[in-house]
Amino acid sequence: MPQLNFTPAVGDLPFTAKQRSLLSLVHELGKTKFAGRAAQWDETASFPFENYRDLRDAGLLALCVPEAHGGLGADYATYMMIGAEIGRFCGATALTYNMHICSTMWTGVLADGIAMTEEQRSEHVRRRALHFQRVVKDGAIYAQPFSEGSAAAAGRAPFGTTARKVEGGWLVNGRKIFASLSGAANYYGVLCTEDKGDDKPDARDTLYLAVPATSEGFAISGEWNPLGMRGTVSRNLTFKDVFVSDDEQLMPRGIYYKGAQTWPAMFFTLAPTYLGQATAAYDFTVQYLRGEVPGEPPIKRRMYATKQIAMAQMRIQLESMKSLFARAIQEAGPNPTKDARMRLYAAQYSVMEGANDIARLAIRTCGGQGMMRHLPLERIYRDSRCGSLMLPWTAELVLDRMGRETLYEAGERDDAPA
Ligand SMILES: Cc1cc2nc3c(=O)[nH]c(=O)nc-3n(C[C@H](O)[C@H](O)[C@H](O)COP(=O)(O)OP(=O)(O)OC[C@H]3O[C@@H](n4cnc5c(N)ncnc54)[C@H](O)[C@@H]3O)c2cc1C
Repeated sequence: MPQLNFTPAVGDLPFTAKQRSLLSLVHELGKTKFAGRAAQWDETASFPFENYRDLRDAGLLALCVPEAHGGLGADYATYMMIGAEIGRFCGATALTYNMHICSTMWTGVLADGIAMTEEQRSEHVRRRALHFQRVVKDGAIYAQPFSEGSAAAAGRAPFGTTARKVEGGWLVNGRKIFASLSGAANYYGVLCTEDKGDDKPDARDTLYLAVPATSEGFAISGEWNPLGMRGTVSRNLTFKDVFVSDDEQLMPRGIYYKGAQTWPAMFFTLAPTYLGQATAAYDFTVQYLRGEVPGEPPIKRRMYATKQIAMAQMRIQLESMKSLFARAIQEAGPNPTKDARMRLYAAQYSVMEGANDIARLAIRTCGGQGMMRHLPLERIYRDSRCGSLMLPWTAELVLDRMGRETLYEAGERDDAPA
């Protein structure tokens, strides 16, 4: 397998032959197709359907579906590399692709690392085969709507959306906000709390159900006119007595909660999009200062010491983001050590805040002509601001977790100060 003729957004790591081949595929797609279309989704706040057709044709919707089920069999680290490469060319495509891919990765490689009874395991293996087939054979797209505007998406309260057991399936009721891929997905992978008929909703009773877009009682509503990531089309969803069959259970009862405790890296999968965005801001600045942006006057600005210093600053920050990111994806797995968990938080924070830092510096360095709407930098600046807002690991909540988990071991607490 030949070496890559470009440096991937994730850096120049010792890739496997399969990773090199997948990275080449998405780099080419991104460069030749996604980059040129990105302004259009942003301008009209519309979903990148064309990009999804390309992803489907290339087999990439099934990136994390195991090979035994007809997918590409990519593991966690490989997805994280691919997500970053897509994010380099179109933020909204990368972010929504993450939601779709997680539906296959959580039920696939992540679920394999979560303890289950024999009965749960065989139920899960049978049901996920159905979901994998939908992706592989029908090119189905899955969304991942968790957020409700309550403390639930932060992991601090049970989800308010409920599912009540009925003959042959579940009745879902509730509301989700910020559902990326709304109107584009064929299935919505909803997190909800099992309604056991008492007044004691419990996060341990979280269910993960796929609601088909065609379900009776399911509706999409609300405006979508945000600052950035406009192509994600993250509108509201309502569920009114929506019936879904037992087979729509993406994980057995109680397993999502266990998974969230076991596999913290499952919440790190939004970061690659933003590592890609940081790389795009950096790449653009190099091109701009060298006077090599296609369609722009070939004016060089690289001879000014201030520009050179800014470039060095951007590279230092990007290198530290990439190093943390690479370490975090290489060691991601069930039950990480405390040090690995801290590194994961640090990687999340560095990438989510760093992407916008780099975009900000890129705009200052390129100057006024560089921030015009026909160029990508101002979009990257807006898109990159959104990473820190994503629950459950917003920049604030990561600081909160890191500080607390550094100073307290499990079970430790202090009496309230006098
Ligand atoms: C472009 C985009 C796409 C998105 N796509 C999806 C999607 O596909 N699926 C999905 O489920 N969600 C999605 N989200 C939603 C996202 O994950 C958050 O749920 C949402 O941004 C939270 O909204 P908020 O900041 O108004 O929440 P609020 O709950 O009002 O929180 C505000 C801030 O307060 C802090 N905070 C929140 N809870 C606590 C707490 N318990 N303790 C301390 N501090 C807290 C956090 O730092 C948070 O940023 C998307 C968001 C964006 C911007």
